[in-house]
Amino acid sequence: MVSLFFIFFDNYSFYKNVLEVYPLEEGMNIVYLLSLSLVIVLFNIFLFTLVSSKYTIKPILIVIVVVSAFTSYFMDTYHVIIDDLMIQNALQTDLDESLDLLSFKLLLYVLFLGVLPAYLVYRVKLKPLSFKEAIFSKVKLLLGSLLVIVLLLLSFSKFYTSFLREHKPLRYSVNPTYWIYSIGKYISLVANRGEVEFKQIGLDAKISPPNTPHKLVIVVIGEATRADHFSLNGYKRETNPLLKKEKIINFKNFYSCGTSTAVSVPCMFSLYGRDDYSYKKGMATENVLDVINHTKQVAILWRDNNSDSKGVALRVPFEDFKYGDKNTICDIECRDEGMLVGLDRYIEQHKNQDILIVLHQMGNHGPAYYKRYPKEFEKFTPVCKTNQLENCTKESIANAYDNAILYSDYFLSKVIGLLKNYQNSYDTTMFYIADHGESLGENGLYLHGLPYFMAPDAQTHVASLMWFGKNNQHKVDEEKSYSQDNLFHTLLGLFNVKSEVYDEKMDILK
Ligand SMILES: [Zn+2]
Repeated sequence: MVSLFFIFFDNYSFYKNVLEVYPLEEGMNIVYLLSLSLVIVLFNIFLFTLVSSKYTIKPILIVIVVVSAFTSYFMDTYHVIIDDLMIQNALQTDLDESLDLLSFKLLLYVLFLGVLPAYLVYRVKLKPLSFKEAIFSKVKLLLGSLLVIVLLLLSFSKFYTSFLREHKPLRYSVNPTYWIYSIGKYISLVANRGEVEFKQIGLDAKISPPNTPHKLVIVVIGEATRADHFSLNGYKRETNPLLKKEKIINFKNFYSCGTSTAVSVPCMFSLYGRDDYSYKKGMATENVLDVINHTKQVAILWRDNNSDSKGVALRVPFEDFKYGDKNTICDIECRDEGMLVGLDRYIEQHKNQDILIVLHQMGNHGPAYYKRYPKEFEKFTPVCKTNQLENCTKESIANAYDNAILYSDYFLSKVIGLLKNYQNSYDTTMFYIADHGESLGENGLYLHGLPYFMAPDAQTHVASLMWFGKNNQHKVDEEKSYSQDNLFHTLLGLFNVKSEVYDEKMDILK
């Protein structure tokens, strides 16, 4: 009954959002939405049954009903999403701020959606069951609801794929499922972060005098691109046909901070070097984007076609380009090139300002390398067309991987092309760094993520290069060994940011 109550009374925002995407009068939508509602009800039944027992069921349901009345109110009124950050915000809110949120409407919500149903739950008489009976009825309910969910998912698999993948934000307003999930996520985040206090750095950051001409910098974060598969680094195959035509600085010995996206991406933007970086410290300290942001003189934008920014862009504008609602260049998946669409407008909107744009690529994300490029980039064949890499020959894996590099070569040349349009009015720079490398079957190793000390060169020696506009050329020793530790200071140097956290010795361009 409580599960039904939620779907009927606590999900106004959810249905409002869903109906915008799937209007009732179109096609089979009414059937899909009925099935979706049933799946949500059954899913809640499943969850509640898991934690139910004679002594726990009532208190748990009462708490969930009351909290959901609040979340309903805030979602319906402020169109907020109750995610982990919102929970964090809520917990860090002081009484003054909370009082500001009180209203008569909130009182009605809490009374009718919270207190009243909670009272009814309290009044229910539980039927005493023997231990055996209780277990049996629980298992029956768990398996039964799970079975029907699976059947519904399979029967309308196309709808559910679209619902879950193309319209990911829709699920953020399912009440109470999403706030319960968010609390779990928040707890695990806090547990991982320990007692470390969040630290601001570079509050003294300043660009003085202001840059003339202004700076336009695009940082591209590559995905799983090992250095030795770039022909620029001497690879036997031509995998950089477009980049080789450009005047670039190609770092032959560039090393990653970690062997996975989740380590390398936050680490390269952090003040800490690989030796003293940890997830805890990284999350608890501002990064180079924050420092540049402190100058209030640079427009910053992060566009992401990978998973997300791994916490780096939490305090700067972030745009998700993984889905067709934002990314306009999608075939079997959304392409990195789509992140360039609309950048001209962004630059136009921020003229008379320095600009920093970060593009986080899908790049060579494994194991399905064959999906990472449009058909016309399939130059090396035959390609391994499964994610079960061990079933493919080494050659066909490398073929698929190299085709994906060809697409990155094209993407990076497009970025350079975009910057060329501005090189007369800006100091333009592109800085490309792959997050980590990739094993392609050498010694039976695939993918990446080995502990750093035992990772082969293939996973840590990454592709990296820079391109400058005609008015701001730099001379750099391409043979010298650099690492992702250099990004923090090189970026500050590129914008002429003066701050106590800037270390000239770590700036590649100094
Ligand atoms: Zn990665």
